[in-house]
Formats: sequence, C-alpha cells, structure tokens
Amino acid sequence: MAVGAHGEGDGVLGRSGMKDIRNYINGKWCKAVGGETFAKINPHNGEALCRVARSGEKDAESAIAAAKAAQPAWSDQTVVARGDLLRAVALRIRERRVDLIAAVAEEMGKAPKLAAGEADAAIEMGMFIAGEGRRYYGRTTTASMAHRSVTVVRQPLGVAGLIISFNTPFPNIAWKVFPALLCGNAAVLKPSEETPLSARLFCEICHEIGIPPGVINVVHGFGKEVGAPMVESPDVALISFTGSAETGRWIQETAGRRLAKVCMELGGKNALVVCDDADMDNAVNWTIQAAFSNAGQRCAAASRIVVFDAVYERFRNALVAATQKLKIGSTDDSDCGPVINEAAIKRLTSAVQDAVGRGGKVLCGGDRLRDEEHAGGFYMAPTLMEGVAADAPISRNELFGPVAVLYRVSDFAAALALVNDCPYGLTASIHTASLHRAMRFADKVQAGVVVVNGGTHGSEPHMGFGGVKNSGTGWREAGVEALDVYSDWKYINLIIDPGKV
Ligand code: NAD
Repeated sequence: MAVGAHGEGDGVLGRSGMKDIRNYINGKWCKAVGGETFAKINPHNGEALCRVARSGEKDAESAIAAAKAAQPAWSDQTVVARGDLLRAVALRIRERRVDLIAAVAEEMGKAPKLAAGEADAAIEMGMFIAGEGRRYYGRTTTASMAHRSVTVVRQPLGVAGLIISFNTPFPNIAWKVFPALLCGNAAVLKPSEETPLSARLFCEICHEIGIPPGVINVVHGFGKEVGAPMVESPDVALISFTGSAETGRWIQETAGRRLAKVCMELGGKNALVVCDDADMDNAVNWTIQAAFSNAGQRCAAASRIVVFDAVYERFRNALVAATQKLKIGSTDDSDCGPVINEAAIKRLTSAVQDAVGRGGKVLCGGDRLRDEEHAGGFYMAPTLMEGVAADAPISRNELFGPVAVLYRVSDFAAALALVNDCPYGLTASIHTASLHRAMRFADKVQAGVVVVNGGTHGSEPHMGFGGVKNSGTGWREAGVEALDVYSDWKYINLIIDPGKV
C-alpha cells in the first residue's frame, strides 16, 4: 500500500514507516484520546507489525455518540438502499481482495490461501445480506376484532456494539457488520487487539463506498479498556459478542443489569466420532482439517476425537502418521500456521503438561517448535494425546489451538454419552456408514451444528450458526436468523371503519 494512498491524516503509515492504525469515528481517522498506542506483533516472526490506537472510555463514548447521531438518517433510508450500499462494499472488498489477503496473512501469520478463503467468505456474506434488503419480509396476521389488520415489521435497535475475536478476522467483521447495518442500526466495532489491520481495511472500504459518517465506527484496543465501556453504555442497545465463554459471561451479566439485548457466539469443545463402520481415510482427512486448520483456532475445531474400540489402533496410527506429515508455516503450502501470541503458546503447553501429569500420553507434538524456521514465531506443533480422563481439564476446557485428544469408547451409546458430557455444545461430527447411527446422533447430540462424515467446521453465509450450553445463548448468526439478532419486531394494528368508506 503506497504512502499517502489514503489521504492526509489517515494514519496508515507512521513516520517510522511502521503502520499506525487509528480509530475510525464519524468518518475520520483518529488517534486514541489519550494518545496511547500498543504494538501488534506478527505471530509468524514475533516482530512488531504496526502501532495501534490504545483506546479507552472516552474513545468508546465518542464512537457511540457518532453512531447515535448517524443512526436515525441511516434507518430512514429504505432497507433496499442500505442493501445496495452494502453490496457495493462487498464488491469493493472483492476488488481489494489482494490487500485484504495481505493484511490478514500478516496479522494472523496464516497462509495466504486461508486468508483468501476468508476474504471470499466475507464477500459472500456481504452479498447474501445485501440481497436480504429485497427479502426483508414481515408478516400479517389475523385478529379476533372485525376490521382490524395486523402487520408485523422489523425495526432497528439503534446503536449496535460489536465485539469480536481474532481467529478469522474478516469474516468475524462481516458476520456482524453487514446484518447490523442492513437492519438500520449504526455500529461501533471493537475488533480484537490482535487483528487491527483487517478492521482498518474494512472501514477504509466503507469510506470509499460512501457509507455515511458515523454509521460504522471502529475503536481499537483492549477489551477491558475500550470494550467494557461499550458494554456498560446506556446508549448501546445491542451487544453482539464473539469470543470466549469467560468474557461472554462478564458481558452478559454486565449488559444484563441494564437489560440490553445481548447476542453471544462463544467457544466450543467439539467432538468428532469415528465409528467402527467409518471410511477410515475420509475420517482421518477430516479429523486433520477439523483439528489443525487455522492452527486449531476455530470455535468449531475438533478437539475431542472419540473412536470406537474396534478401530481405535488403526485410526490412531493413521491419524498420528498424517499429523506428523503436516507442514507447519505461513506459506501457501503450509497446513498449519502459528497461534496468535505468546500467551496462547503458554496456555497450550501448560495444558498439555497438566494432562501428562494426570497420566495422559503425547502421541505427537506436545510442545512449541523451536527449530530455526519457527523459533521466532508462535508455532505450536500439532498435538495428539490419549489416555486422558473425560473430566480432566484438557477434556473440558477450550484450548483454541492445534491440540486434540483421542478417547476410546466401546460403542455408540458410550460415544454419545462422552460427546454430551461437556460444558460446550457448538458443533459435532460423526463418521459412520450407518444411516441409523447418523440420524440417532444428529437427533441426540447436544450441539447447534451436526455433520455426518465430514469435519466439525464449515459454516456458510446462508446457514445460521451457533451453539447450546456454554457455546451461546440461543442466537444464530449468519443466515436469515442474523436478522433476528439485529432487529426487533413491531406489531402495527390498523382498524378501519367500513361505514366511512
Ligand atoms: P476473548 O473473549 O478473549 O476476546 C474476544 C473479544 O472480546 C476481543 O475483542 C477482546 O478484546 C474483547 N474483550 C475482552 N474482555 C472484554 C471485556 N471485559 N469487555 C468487553 N470486551 C472484552 O476471545 P478471543 O481469544 O479473542 O477469541 C477466542 C474465543 O472466541 C474462543 O472461545 C472461540 O471459540 C470464540 N469464537 C467463537 C465463535 C463463534 O461463532 N461461536 C467464532 C470465533 C471465535
């Protein structure tokens, strides 16, 4: 990206040549009110990548005020017109796909091909939601009173506070911003402190397309410093959150005290079951992808691999062999990239050590990669374990990294019981040739998404996504279900007098 390509004061490149990422408030690029910044580290090499506005309460207030001022005029536009603008944003993302891939690959350290897939997913989400502008259906209903007609329509909520995780930064933005704006809300987005570049690029594109000032605002920084004031603000009608159950619990409690609407998309401890009648090659392939793609940093990653006794050794040996062949790095031929930061490496290695201390056995991986190629980055070796109890911390806590545990079960009933014995319920998969097993599993498993003979991941823009238990609070994002998050229903009663016709 050339210096000055975005006009004076946009803050893309600072004097040192290092990118200087500012907030985007009321259509302008602004430093944090306190002038503070923090360094974002590239996970691939451990080097500082950019300096980012370290925002606080005053920045949150200013972004919320801008959104509040802009929202009435934005909601006065027809939903078709809003959809048209959002389609233009999606098409512009497509034109700037190369910039987007570069930004995401840099800030996540991930292979460009993965970043490309995410860019395409975000574009598709924009296109899907834009189309909903022409399908923004309400309902009519009957009434017991004569000559009364009742129409049910969607209405915006006001200011939407959008707080997101780092793992797939561009889709995470698209999943929330597109439906929030289509429904006539103005938004304040708080991206993860780990992924400021993609949020910056998204605003730049909205700016280029002419989304009115104040309709989308971004405040960068840390959750407790700039996210918490958004959760507490009486001017934020909705908090839509994607992140860990721990943070989600605090947000739900805090926003709940002021009776705000809160949508939670939380973590997972997803199980993939391999039955004795499974296609072994297919099961191994999908397990590898579900456990290790995106370095296991997926809410839908498979971290509990539940295998029938009769095929346990065969499956385990094939899975370990395939895992050991994975190429670890940030280039397009890599299968597994780095995790996001040093803290993630510490969390993963200490969870593995704890499990070993409880009798667990490391089948492969188990530690940080320290060879010359990976030493500077946050690379965790893809790790498989076995011999761990179902109630051990590693079996119950989400790790959000390339670590999966194998469990041996006697039969279908034991597999289902183990899968459901979990605080989370996001996704689950079963590998079997039996229609009866597949359907029974789909019926009885406690999860929001079920897959037969595939991975535990793979949502699409038109498919509602979300989970049960600690994985969410009943909302579904993406799909037409997303409109329920970002709008409210209004019942309009029209009573006519036939005598006055
Ligand atoms: P996190 O909970 O640490 O942070 C998420 C976001 O919340 C970040 O932007 C962070 O700055 C902010 N935050 C932190 N404390 C806050 C506070 N007190 N008030 C307001 N905001 C605060 O999660 P993470 O490490 O970024 O992401 C990993 C988690 O996200 C995993 O649990 C993963 O499963 C989950 N996730 C869920 C989905 C889904 O759709 N269900 C998708 C992606 C990730």
